[in-house]
Amino acid sequence: MTTAPDTRPPRAERAARARLATDRLRTAAVDAVAVGWVDNAGLARVKAVPLSGLAHAALWGIGAAPCFDAFLVDDSTAGDSTAADSRAGGPAADPAGAAPPAGSAAVGDLRLYPDLDRLVPLAAQPGWAWAPADRYTQQGDPHPGCQRLFARRMEAAARARGLTVRAGIEVEWVVALAGPPEEEPRYPTAGPAYGLQRLTDLSDYLREVLRALEQQGLSVLQIHPEYAPGQFEVSVAPEGPVAAADTSVLVRHTVRAVSARHGLRASFAPAVEPGGVGNGSHLHFSLWRDGRNLAHGGSGPHGLTGEAEAFLAGVLAALPELLVLGTPSPAGYLRLVPSRWAGAYQCWGLENREAALRLVTGSEGERAEAANAEIKCFDATANPYLAVGAVLAAGLAGIDRGLRLPPETTVDPARLAPEAVPRLPADLPEAIAAYERSAVLREALGEPLYWAVHSVRRAESALFAGRTAEEIIAATRWRY
Ligand code: GLU
Ligand code: MG
Repeated sequence: MTTAPDTRPPRAERAARARLATDRLRTAAVDAVAVGWVDNAGLARVKAVPLSGLAHAALWGIGAAPCFDAFLVDDSTAGDSTAADSRAGGPAADPAGAAPPAGSAAVGDLRLYPDLDRLVPLAAQPGWAWAPADRYTQQGDPHPGCQRLFARRMEAAARARGLTVRAGIEVEWVVALAGPPEEEPRYPTAGPAYGLQRLTDLSDYLREVLRALEQQGLSVLQIHPEYAPGQFEVSVAPEGPVAAADTSVLVRHTVRAVSARHGLRASFAPAVEPGGVGNGSHLHFSLWRDGRNLAHGGSGPHGLTGEAEAFLAGVLAALPELLVLGTPSPAGYLRLVPSRWAGAYQCWGLENREAALRLVTGSEGERAEAANAEIKCFDATANPYLAVGAVLAAGLAGIDRGLRLPPETTVDPARLAPEAVPRLPADLPEAIAAYERSAVLREALGEPLYWAVHSVRRAESALFAGRTAEEIIAATRWRY
């Protein structure tokens, strides 16, 4: 899986499309284009060009250093933390040498190619447009560490078997009054969990979030207050996996931008208050063949077809190692605890909100369209391209191996005997150990990306080793 196809349209087509896009954006009074990618720390990074530079960017890419593949949540790089790394145990350097050898991270260049299909004026940032980037080398080869190209490869692998996947990523966030990074959150609403009062306290803000998302062409399904203080959620319509990952980046960016316009700031971090309910980033997905939803009308549990069951069983079996891509931050394990609706157990169940894999069939009558599965344990420190790509890899491996689901969990697993249902890894090192055993993820990600992720995860684990929950939260609350 390491050799990735070039997915860019031919150069002449790129030039023609970039010219059309430039004209369109000029009419929309756009001056600058933000071209973004998400790094292995789960942070959205950006280079921007003036509108007049968009055509050149589409043709030749925008320069970006390869060292971003080693960046951590605190903007240090994995290579810097060798001392801390050795505290985490295991080899100081990754076998494939994916962490740049000392001193080399400053050398070299990659090119960011904006995906013109996703280019959109930013409604909450007048004068700006945004596009997600695929990363290529200066020689014009796909960068093997590009997370978005990885997700594209997995989407293509599913398509090659006649399968299409529809996915959607729910976005939860906590909104607080703007303030300095070291400040604890002060909430602009004291309304109760799911309280109507939160809508009146923040009526204009929420309306602007909704409008901005819709103006950017997104189809919002729901927007509502959540459980934790100042917490809200927005969900959008399902689409292809890469598109869903793009959308989750755009949704978060939009929420952030609207928040800034209202003197507020948003946190998508998994843990915002010690001991509190956190922010999840649940991934919904359904599998389709020939226009038919494979989670409906089959003879398996709750109407699953054999193929959908095998796919889900593959995902369920791989959840411990998938956490390295879906729940990758030490902060995530402060959230991923029982009885917080975060899905801390490796089990599945129909509408079971304490199961890491929740099956959703929808209401009678709409099931052929609506039936899907939700991975609850993931959070927004994930690079969404890695998360969706890895889930596809695990699901397709489940189909290859003809896996079946274990018995369903129909109650909160925390109420069962400890040996009845396995608990997911309780910390990042445990998840990394599972990842190190995963041939499926290693094959799918390819050596460079597999080890780059490994070295960033190990370095972040070392960065926060021995720190209290309060310290981890203070260091990460406003980073995501
Ligand atoms: N906030 C919860 C989490 O951390 C999820 C609540 C819900 O089920 O929507 O995942
Ligand atoms: Mg929610």
